[in-house]
Amino acid sequence: MNKRILITGGAGFIGSHLCERLIKEGNEVICLDNYFTGSKSNIVHLLDNPYFELIRHDVTHPYFIEVDEIYNLACPASPVHYQYNSIKTIKTSVMGAINMLGLAKRTKAKILQASTSEVYGDPLIHPQPESYWGNVNPIGIRSCYDEGKRCAESLFINYHEQNDVAIKIIRIFNTYGPRMNPEDGRVVSNFIMQALLNEDITIFGDGKQTRSFQYVDDLVEGMIRMMGSRDDFYGPVNIGNPNEFSMLELAEAVIRLTNSKSKITYMPLPADDPTQRQPDISLAKKELNNWEPKIQLEQGLQNTINYFDNLLKQGWTRK
Ligand code: NAD
Ligand code: UDP
Repeated sequence: MNKRILITGGAGFIGSHLCERLIKEGNEVICLDNYFTGSKSNIVHLLDNPYFELIRHDVTHPYFIEVDEIYNLACPASPVHYQYNSIKTIKTSVMGAINMLGLAKRTKAKILQASTSEVYGDPLIHPQPESYWGNVNPIGIRSCYDEGKRCAESLFINYHEQNDVAIKIIRIFNTYGPRMNPEDGRVVSNFIMQALLNEDITIFGDGKQTRSFQYVDDLVEGMIRMMGSRDDFYGPVNIGNPNEFSMLELAEAVIRLTNSKSKITYMPLPADDPTQRQPDISLAKKELNNWEPKIQLEQGLQNTINYFDNLLKQGWTRK
């Protein structure tokens, strides 16, 4: 047996892939989730494995267990879901970080924080290096998520400096892939579901805003390399795919790959929607053994389209 690893938010999109990979590598995995945006169906295939354990728990409450490593992912990631109960989102990021850092301090576990490119807000520097402090509206509709994650980074650094907790911080850029919640409102899942159902593709604003999309397997590889990186490197480090696309380009790619009859429709741009996002990944390459994304948009989209197509064939319908 390798290590005993706790994954908060393990039944979510990214968490489920991480659970799968760490189990495959021979670890004991404890998946903790309150199922706000995650689902048992994401990890049901692991339930027969005696080294996989599923716990229903909310990270805003303390949790006691003995583990070697913690990946702290619990937090809704889609703007629609994190704005649904914004105060809860802040509590999840901040109290969740305090509870998991307390657990790490007591058990001397190494702990990795799933931070986000949102700490850069609507960035004035392009691409974004880790040294950029960001341009975040502290009272805007995205602030519950952005400031919650920024406070969590601060907590991580302070637990490290004050209490010698072994921390790792990664800043994840837009990630997509199979097991995204088809109705979570994020752009990749929205566009693919709309295209498969021949519904209008909803572009917010003029579609010229950009994002850099990373396939989930590349992220999981980066997370595991970061957890295993040298003791005195704790980040923050950007983990993302530097290939940048406008939302219009994404919509066109999805329509083409699905052979859809969907038309593009334009809707109002939500407040504080960042105009551009692109990670500078030179630090990740240097510190994480030449880590870089391997799966580019076309292939990643095709895998994700296949996943959503299967869901529809199994009878999935909109709520
Ligand atoms: P997701 O919504 O699919 O997963 C989040 C999981 O956390 C869900 O299973 C949810 O039920 C669980 N959760 C939420 N609040 C909780 C609470 N209070 N207690 C316990 N569990 C709780 O989202 P995801 O895309 O898998 O994101 C995982 C992590 O990665 C999040 O922390 C997110 O902020 C971060 N991240 C994701 C992206 C991305 O593009 N997907 C980008 C940057 C950062
Ligand atoms: N977006 C869009 N149509 C949608 C959903 C999102 O045009 O149906 C845009 C959104 O306004 C943003 C980008 O796609 O500019 C990425 O949105 P997402 O919610 O996936 O993540 P974000 O990076 O904004 O947190």
